Amino acid sequence: KPTLYIVSTPIGNLKDITYRAIEILSSVDYILAEDTRVTDKLLKHYFINKKLISYHEHNKFEKEELILKLLSENNHIALVSDAGTPMISDPGYEITQTVMQNEYPVVAIPGASALLTALITSNIAPMPFIFIGFLPRKQSDQKTFLEKYKSYQEALIIYESPKRIEKTLQVIYEVYGNRKISLARELTKKFETITNGYIEDILKTELNLLGEYVLIIEGNQIEVDYNEITIEAHVLLYIKQGY
Ligand code: SAM
Repeated sequence: KPTLYIVSTPIGNLKDITYRAIEILSSVDYILAEDTRVTDKLLKHYFINKKLISYHEHNKFEKEELILKLLSENNHIALVSDAGTPMISDPGYEITQTVMQNEYPVVAIPGASALLTALITSNIAPMPFIFIGFLPRKQSDQKTFLEKYKSYQEALIIYESPKRIEKTLQVIYEVYGNRKISLARELTKKFETITNGYIEDILKTELNLLGEYVLIIEGNQIEVDYNEITIEAHVLLYIKQGY
């Protein structure tokens, strides 16, 4: 049956792609690509010659009709983004919904994603975590957004552009105080740099801020008051027993 494959591609190092992904990209009839020039480079590296269709944030709804038509004509289609896993802070979610509703299979081909790669070397407990993606752009919206997660114990994973990283770190410091963070820059690339530590120290350090970033913030480390927990547990038990 004609299928839509959601294919993960590298996040920098072109070798970070699976054999299966290469096999799928070589065998499909069409590839939907966020930026056809970026995908072209990847395909050339692996000697794959395929018809590319541009599919991105600004044309994703217009392209639905064409994609359904191609599937109805028995074509297999792959969707890739510029880097990593489609749908992770990248387009793709809507088309998977439409394709599933029209009863064609959607198959995920797993691979690289910046968020998991960054988590491994963050020196922050990896689970549980909350993946946020990009923060709102406006500083006031950022603050309101971050406030919402202030009491959460989960590690927070944020994507950020080099233009805003410094300001974002300031806002995080203002809202959360001196927490442990990890800055993962240019993962899998030549200038990969991981900076782990307390945000106050990191803000004082001269950092080269060029390149792409994943930012991980340690969750709220509350001091546990065991007396209170016992009292709460009693109360819970009380309610459950129906007294
Ligand atoms: N779909 C991608 C994924 O699976 O990770 C994410 C795409 S999103 C549009 C781009 C953002 O991902 C960048 O701004 C950066 O925050 C992060 N990112 C992607 N590649 C990266 C890399 N090599 N090193 C650090 N961060 C990266």
